[in-house]
Amino acid sequence: MKSPSSLDTAKSLVARLKEAGHEAYLVGGCVRDLIRGVEPEDYDIATSARPEEVRQLFPRTLPIGASFGVILVLEQGRPYEVATFRSEAAYLDGRRPSGIAYTSAREDVLRRDFTINGLLMDTLTGEIIDYTAGRQDIEKGIIRAIGDPAQRFAEDHLRMLRAVRLAANLGFDIEPNTFAAIKDLAEKILLISAERTRDEMTNLLTQGQPRRGMELLDASGLLRHILPEVSALKEIEQHPDYHPEGDVWEHTLRMLALLPSEGLPLNKTEVLGWAVLLHDIGKPLCACTDERGVHFYGHVRQGEELARNIMRRLRFSNETAETVLSLIHYHMHFLDVPRLRPAKLKRFLRLDNFDLHLALHKMDCLGSHGRLGTYYFCQDQLASLRPEELHPPKLLNGRDLMELGYKPGPPFKDILDAVENAQLEGQLSTQDDARRFVLERYGRSAP
Ligand code: ATP
Ligand code: MG
Repeated sequence: MKSPSSLDTAKSLVARLKEAGHEAYLVGGCVRDLIRGVEPEDYDIATSARPEEVRQLFPRTLPIGASFGVILVLEQGRPYEVATFRSEAAYLDGRRPSGIAYTSAREDVLRRDFTINGLLMDTLTGEIIDYTAGRQDIEKGIIRAIGDPAQRFAEDHLRMLRAVRLAANLGFDIEPNTFAAIKDLAEKILLISAERTRDEMTNLLTQGQPRRGMELLDASGLLRHILPEVSALKEIEQHPDYHPEGDVWEHTLRMLALLPSEGLPLNKTEVLGWAVLLHDIGKPLCACTDERGVHFYGHVRQGEELARNIMRRLRFSNETAETVLSLIHYHMHFLDVPRLRPAKLKRFLRLDNFDLHLALHKMDCLGSHGRLGTYYFCQDQLASLRPEELHPPKLLNGRDLMELGYKPGPPFKDILDAVENAQLEGQLSTQDDARRFVLERYGRSAP
């Protein structure tokens, strides 16, 4: 039997809450998306039931935000957030309320961020309950704060960044008063925790229209506070032969517009988005003009250093940071590819995450001169090389060298690398070849 869809399961949770005598609705982003005809990523439910009542009704629950009245219900292997209607006491720190009180559905809607996120859906009747004229804003494509925008952004500064990323991802406009309030309060975004800022920035980069997202982030004044290093790319002119598109900012924006928004797992999209955004951030500090025009010697190393600081500041996991840094590190290596000897080429092609390196390179070309010769060359090589040519079995190890009479030590790595290079060049293929190669090259007594 086909397993029920997430929507069917969400409806069944609402039905169970109502049978037990509570009010219950779908709420927030999922209602917005259902109205837009887009399949929601996840479903949130708002209810009059108290957290302890929710926990009694469903067999598998997790109290993820029990002090805020939020219970995670696990059903059909998927999580659903079930939150008790609440209103919030004063925000004293620009981040979170000093307390909450359980209230009505209407009050619960009024504490939410934007009108488009404030709709309730009665899944039994299909009726939409709209206390904030959110439906009209969805139809017109408008992000409008619920209530007074300046007050709402002063309560929780993250909402400013959410406005921008929702506008980009949904292709909506930000209502002028809402946008003006963001411009006034932009620098307050620095008071928000690095993790929350990072997650919304990742959403902005990965969930659709990142170029527009970055332009709005810039126009709102948020960018120069969140990522001054990216803001600095503006008006850094480049050599017109390699970069007919213009300055480094325009180049980065063009690449963002080319980011794949589907077909890749989320962690790869995330890494690629951040790599595009940060790949040239070393350029402003390395720009130098001489008789041959402008150049950026050392920008990769400078960029890696800045990117490492940014990713530390935004508390990225080591794994994500290292992958982004390696993408930045190798992005100029593609220039050398046509001249590489086979061993070096194969070592390059078998780098971890080479698919991402190649994807970044393709966007780098399409976001500038448009020449894809090296991209296709790498693709052809990867298609024609057999796995055992790219990853041939190891012919010798340290023990073999000891048996040949060498004393263990640091030079072992150089010898074994030389063996593998010769193997990748097709000069040797058996262990006997390899032993002969070592003895001829390094002699019997050395090192
Ligand atoms: P997405 O589709 O990208 O998940 P979303 O609107 O569902 O967008 P969530 O972060 O999942 O975003 O939040 C769910 C709902 O909670 C929102 O639709 C909104 O009603 C409310 N909400 C989220 N963050 C805030 C906030 N900082 N302030 C007020 N309300 C918020
Ligand atoms: Mg959501």
